[in-house]
Amino acid sequence: MRFSQRSKNAVLVLVTLFCGTGCGDSPVGGSEDDTDLVQEVINQTNLDSLSQVVRELSGDLPVLINGRAEVIRSRHKDYPGNDLAANYINAKLTSYGLIVVDQWISGTARNVYALQTGTRYPDRKYIFGAHYDSMPDSTTSPGGDDNASGTAAVLEAARVLSRYTPEYTVMYALWDEEEQGVIGSGYYASNADRAGEDIEGVINVDMIGWDSDNNGEFFINVRDISSSALLSDAMVDINARYGIELSPRIVNPGYGSDNLPFWFFGYGAIGVEELYGEDWNDYYHDAGDRLSQFNLQYFHNCARLLSGTLASLARLQ
Ligand SMILES: [Zn+2]
Repeated sequence: MRFSQRSKNAVLVLVTLFCGTGCGDSPVGGSEDDTDLVQEVINQTNLDSLSQVVRELSGDLPVLINGRAEVIRSRHKDYPGNDLAANYINAKLTSYGLIVVDQWISGTARNVYALQTGTRYPDRKYIFGAHYDSMPDSTTSPGGDDNASGTAAVLEAARVLSRYTPEYTVMYALWDEEEQGVIGSGYYASNADRAGEDIEGVINVDMIGWDSDNNGEFFINVRDISSSALLSDAMVDINARYGIELSPRIVNPGYGSDNLPFWFFGYGAIGVEELYGEDWNDYYHDAGDRLSQFNLQYFHNCARLLSGTLASLARLQ
């Protein structure tokens, strides 16, 4: 469904229609502007679709790929589920009307990304990325939190933002073989550097499902490189302005995963993750890493914040 009316009343009606009793907050905080598209995007970021994607990617539910029901049991690079997952991601992004690219890097590594061309700055892009491969190296490797959670957040942002027109180009990137040393994102970043690609900023997300003490804290990994601090500031601002009820903690100099190669090549980037080393998933790289262990409210809030930040940076129309 596409919004043609952007009045506040229409937003309220649609929020009610979409959310039923589950998430019926009226637009809060920030702008009372009739065309607050960031608020619209936050409101449409839906826990049911996020959860469905995590369950499909981690083998809890079968998926339909090319008309065949398949179960993705392992997204580790050496198992057929890794390719099935890439096909699944491609089909999802294609269904949102986006231009989708399969970027083969080796016999096992394949990034899948989609582009939504900006109307005003088509050659300047924001990248929202997550790795889709998983650990452990096993036939059962559900990778729910690591990193079906981040993959779902990227796919959900694509679902919602594809209904709008951004001024900047937006790229939704699902990287492969992060677990072997950021192979997929490293390949992309080095090519981008060589080609002189104009990347305004990269938001990477890796593990946003675990918050055992329910305090809403998460890390924004940042470094003093290019636009990185601006991205981090934007995220902190959106969290406060739209009352998302997370507690960002800035880590500078930060670490992370697929944000690292972009820093290496001098691009602005941030890495969003749950509290590595403090409140860390008990099922990390384990066959028990599934949606059933998630803090769903935390997962939902992280995805809302990510979608809202991307919408703000890309300047939706
Ligand atoms: Zn990961």
